[in-house]
Amino acid sequence: MKTYQHYIDGQYVDPIGQRWFDSVDPYSGQAWARIPQGCAKDVDRAVAAASRAMREGPWATMTATERGKLMLRLADLVAKNAQRLAEIEVRDNGKLIAEMAGQMNYHPEWWRYFGGLVDKIEGRVMPIDKPDIFAFSRQEPVGVVGAMTAWNSPLLFIAWKCAPAIAAGCAVVIKPSEFTSASTLEYAALTREAGFPDGVFNVVAGYGPEAGAALVDHPDVAKITFTGSDTTGKLIYAQAARSMKRVSLELGGKSPNIVFDDCDLDQAASGVISGIFAATGQTCIAGSRLLVQNSIREDFTRRVKELGASARKGNPMSADTNIGPVTTPAQYKKILDYIGIAKAEGARCILGGGPAAASPELTGGQFVEPTIFVDVTPQMRIAREEVFGPVLSIMGFDDEAQAVQMANDTIYGLAAGVWTQDMGRAMRMSKAMKAGTVWVNTYRAVSFMMPFGGMKHSGIGRESGIAAIEGFLETKSTWISYAKGGPANPFVLR
Ligand code: NAD
Repeated sequence: MKTYQHYIDGQYVDPIGQRWFDSVDPYSGQAWARIPQGCAKDVDRAVAAASRAMREGPWATMTATERGKLMLRLADLVAKNAQRLAEIEVRDNGKLIAEMAGQMNYHPEWWRYFGGLVDKIEGRVMPIDKPDIFAFSRQEPVGVVGAMTAWNSPLLFIAWKCAPAIAAGCAVVIKPSEFTSASTLEYAALTREAGFPDGVFNVVAGYGPEAGAALVDHPDVAKITFTGSDTTGKLIYAQAARSMKRVSLELGGKSPNIVFDDCDLDQAASGVISGIFAATGQTCIAGSRLLVQNSIREDFTRRVKELGASARKGNPMSADTNIGPVTTPAQYKKILDYIGIAKAEGARCILGGGPAAASPELTGGQFVEPTIFVDVTPQMRIAREEVFGPVLSIMGFDDEAQAVQMANDTIYGLAAGVWTQDMGRAMRMSKAMKAGTVWVNTYRAVSFMMPFGGMKHSGIGRESGIAAIEGFLETKSTWISYAKGGPANPFVLR
């Protein structure tokens, strides 16, 4: 078993408390790595290193253009190491190698995009309405950033958070999920190889309530960027308020996939299945509510069921596996509990509905059958709460107005899918959805160029896209008077 260390101030170091915990491969059920258990003292050490890096030394004095070049170098190194890092992620979270390798191959684009942006962050000169004043604003890094990530796509979230943060000139302290820390700890070495000065990129592993909470509380951390559940997000939001930290939150969802009778049904069925069964449903953007027009409900339900039933469960490292294990024992139990709740509330299960039957291919792993419920009503918990598993609820609607009402009838607002050939309807639906992302005739698409984030309980702020950098900047206004003589009246606001 490999024993990992924190990465602080450009070096791998043991946890101060000399404690480690095991990381378990969800497919084999075996521990495969020892992860350092960080405490408040480790966090303090990392934040001190990050603060130092921002105050003194090469990072503080480097030109923006030079910082951008380091980011481009990191992009190339990540590209070279993509397959190795993807395999580590699969060992930690059990997601398919096809998905994780795809993410890792795409990952460098965030560093290239924001690396190119670094020396284009400009202030403004104001044509100020006062005589003899030169007035300008400049954009400065917000300060040390604490980043906390979820277990489903650990390194993708590092790119989403750290590329804009570092482009803004910040230094970061990352607390990865306790279930999937290994890839982030390995990745840190690449930042050193790329030439990042000591203290710019730090990783403290450990548990949320211990290391994570210490980071949120730390007085020298200016901003928290978090990806995780809305339950933890609310805790962090409240906790961060005590020290007036800036906060951005990427949280959960209960996203609708809305299928109209004028759509390409094969295309829609494939989009619906990928929306809910990809990554074993463990994605924030899972299209867990299928809203289908009643005129095609029976036919479409049959198609979706057939396609869902064809998904192959197995070893996530195999290229032909469609459904891997659930990442954590707690998540496995939660999914099975929700299946039980749905049945008890009167939903009818037409596919799956429990743990996968034992087979040699599935030993050790926590496998859930891809599950579909019909006869779901909008009040049922299965239609309202995030399951974070391969469980689809199907509900019917008659017309556009009812589709909009049902789609928005949720506390969440992360994403929505719309399937229609009618452009007018596509535009109306995109406008009417209370969601940060609307996909029309596609689903699960993301890009470094496209803002991503949630409305309502799905979060605060946006990642990716040019504007993402603003979350890591403060605007400073400077007034320079070149008037002769002092102020006429010192007691009056000028
Ligand atoms: P989680 O909330 O349990 O944990 C997320 C992170 O927060 C982990 O690093 C954890 O250690 C840390 N944490 C936990 N308690 C903490 C505390 N008290 N103080 C500080 N940090 C703490 O989430 P998870 O189970 O890892 O991930 C699944 C959730 O993430 C789902 O709800 C999913 O929808 C959401 N998610 C959102 C997005 C998005 O971009 N919107 C992407 C992926 C996952």
